[in-house]
Amino acid sequence: MNYFVVDRGDDISLRLTEQFHQLAKGYGMVLDGTKPDIVLSIGGDGTMLHAFHRFRHLLEHTAFVGIHTGRLGFYADWTPDELEELAQLMYHQTTESRMQIVEYPLVEITFTTAEGMESYLALNEFTLRGIAETMVAQLNINDEMFEMFRGDGICISTPSGSTAYNKALNGALIHPSLEALQIAEIASINNRVFRTLGSPMILPKHHSCDIYPQTKKKVLLSVDHLYLQRDDVLSIRCKVSPDQKVKFARFRPFPFWSRVQKAFIGMDYK
Ligand code: NAD
Repeated sequence: MNYFVVDRGDDISLRLTEQFHQLAKGYGMVLDGTKPDIVLSIGGDGTMLHAFHRFRHLLEHTAFVGIHTGRLGFYADWTPDELEELAQLMYHQTTESRMQIVEYPLVEITFTTAEGMESYLALNEFTLRGIAETMVAQLNINDEMFEMFRGDGICISTPSGSTAYNKALNGALIHPSLEALQIAEIASINNRVFRTLGSPMILPKHHSCDIYPQTKKKVLLSVDHLYLQRDDVLSIRCKVSPDQKVKFARFRPFPFWSRVQKAFIGMDYK
């Protein structure tokens, strides 16, 4: 079994990475940055976002697993003191071919510029925001005009990203077994002149959403932790990726709703 580690780079994460390499060596696992079977993210959810984007060309092959060195993360659910147990389970479950994989949907984002098209894949979300001015953008759903948005911006999230930025925008939490994307407004302007829906919307896999920025000035575009300031984007198409998903290796059960409970409620009712 080949593996690779992406860590946050702080002292704790670096120490854990070193420890993991030692454990892995003992089990005969091979360190491989070219085509790893498993990528271990050591740090927080942000580290998992980095790991995902670094290996996004290998989504068919590679599965991810996360260790958190701070608070419990959504993608990082193993603790540093469980490192040995994780290495043991990784070794046994992969050699005995009984590793459990869960697959979560992703959002595909395509920018159209005068030069052509650019594609991105989001694990959490895509956002479009104005810079130092109200963002005005036409929103089409399934190729029909839906509304003219005015406000701070628009967030389009995946189901697993619904617990991230989308949650802060009062979007719903979506179980990642549902192939859907969610559109949430960021501080829309609503009065007698300007009107937006004002509620988050959830679109199924075969629907699409196109955004047409109406300004000639730069807008801020983000895909997970990556930020771009651009003035050349004519339109943005968002849809659930038809053929790509992210794989997470589950060496023990930790259901999505338990994660939600632990991260946001945190009280033990047993
Ligand atoms: P960061 O370190 O500031 O992380 C922001 C927080 O988002 C962290 O607490 C992280 O644990 C949490 N987070 C990330 N993905 C999550 C998920 N799927 N479910 C629940 N919590 C999650 O920034 P970063 O490391 O660069 O991460 C970028 C992410 O930050 C973006 O994808 C976005 O979702 C999130 N973000 C959130 C807000 C907000 O909640 N108002 C604003 C900007 C960005």
